[in-house]
Amino acid sequence: MDYVLDPPEPASIAVAGQAKRMPVRRIFCVGRNYAAHAREMGMDDRDPPFFFTKPADAVVDGGQTIPYPPGTDNLAYEAELVAVIGTGGCDIAVEDSLDHVWGYALGNDLTRRDIQILARDQGRPWDMGKGFDNSAIIGPVHPVAEVGHPSDGYIRLSVNGEQRQDGNLNEMIWKPQEVISILSKMLNLRPGDLVMTGTPAGVGMLTPGDVCVIEIEGLGEMTTTIGTPAR
Ligand code: MN
Repeated sequence: MDYVLDPPEPASIAVAGQAKRMPVRRIFCVGRNYAAHAREMGMDDRDPPFFFTKPADAVVDGGQTIPYPPGTDNLAYEAELVAVIGTGGCDIAVEDSLDHVWGYALGNDLTRRDIQILARDQGRPWDMGKGFDNSAIIGPVHPVAEVGHPSDGYIRLSVNGEQRQDGNLNEMIWKPQEVISILSKMLNLRPGDLVMTGTPAGVGMLTPGDVCVIEIEGLGEMTTTIGTPAR
């Protein structure tokens, strides 16, 4: 195929223990999937799941310094378990959906909270609050063959050594297998799609110079430093 511009390299995330990387096709995120977080955002905790997306090239590896994003005075962290789709499909049954997962990673769903809340309250799209450059920090993906399907275990986040989020994967309102099944009834899931499964309570703000560490039981930890604003 001839293109008028050089097509970009696919966005990708690291794979634990391998030099090869996982290409990223799309990023789907679940809103408010832990009851205590739904309540801290002022919402009911029994609503059906809803989804928003980030561009694939919003991904950035853990272990880096990322520039403080433009256009916000309230950059928020959200520690999340990320399921990486290895086998595509549509209308997938709950009992089959975990067979479509290649592996799991640590994720930080960075959010321009001020812009997101304004959009929410005005009934506008969340894109500029959620889908900006470097807004999906993703650690190395661990293959299911090595880590299984994490469903019970700590999910924690600290800022400058101070614990801010301390939840458990078993507190998810909609389990990964349900989330994947529901999503697959809305569109055809493809290999390389990422599903960010929501964050526990304790969300808060990051400022330049902050060091943010996320840990999930069995998946190690991921450190991100917030740099000065990009110019
Ligand atoms: Mn989130």
